[in-house]
Amino acid sequence: MDVALLTVGDEVLAGETTNTNAAWLGRALTARGANVRRTVVVPDEEAVIADAIRELSERYDAVLVTGGLGPTPDDVTMAGVAAGLDRELVEHEDATRYVEEAGGYENAERNDALRRLPAGARVLPNAAGVAPGAAVETARARVYVLPGVPSEMKEMFEEVADEFAGTKRLVETVHANEPESALVDRIETARERFDVSVGSYPGDGVRLRVSGTDGDAVHAAAQWLRERVER
Ligand code: ATP
Ligand code: MG
Repeated sequence: MDVALLTVGDEVLAGETTNTNAAWLGRALTARGANVRRTVVVPDEEAVIADAIRELSERYDAVLVTGGLGPTPDDVTMAGVAAGLDRELVEHEDATRYVEEAGGYENAERNDALRRLPAGARVLPNAAGVAPGAAVETARARVYVLPGVPSEMKEMFEEVADEFAGTKRLVETVHANEPESALVDRIETARERFDVSVGSYPGDGVRLRVSGTDGDAVHAAAQWLRERVER
């Protein structure tokens, strides 16, 4: 299952907020065997969100959107998602019931915004906060709209986590104490000999990340490299 993440937030683009939501979701989805293929960050602008949703929902099996769910005027994510999927943003019966049962915000006027979801959406309860999320199915993709507040986002993701599955990739790491450029031939040979991907991440030495869906091949390739690099 190929998945894209769409992070909404001016403050993320400005670097004021670090995109820990995308990092956390990347790890959680990968651990479940989903294949995270892209993360896109956009401002709190309805038209830009709509364009991104249109493109991503046509290319990936699932899109997870975070941020901009609240009741303030800068929270335009639901409207952007609805527009991008060519759906109306409607007073949603289930969302209305949810807000009534869950209590909503103290300022009741603010609750109007929470009742509006894209037509046909499934309401996702917000166990750690107020604003509900939504899941929308299209012919090609499933789109999930989650809050920006990390604790709320995580709890809501856990509600739908079982909907993400795939063949798990196994990973082994080999540390090499050589310049990256010197390792190129051995990396290429490992890739050719075994059914694995090999990523190389320089830092303190070079971290070679061997991954694949066949555990025996990953182990054999990692072993092959371990025997041939300076460590
Ligand atoms: P609320 O209902 O509280 O308005 P929201 O869903 O509208 O929540 P935002 O207003 O976009 O979410 O963000 C709320 C807070 O969550 C931000 O101030 C920021 O601290 C945090 N946050 C938002 N997006 C991210 C992100 N991608 N990674 C980490 N933290 C984030
Ligand atoms: Mg907000």
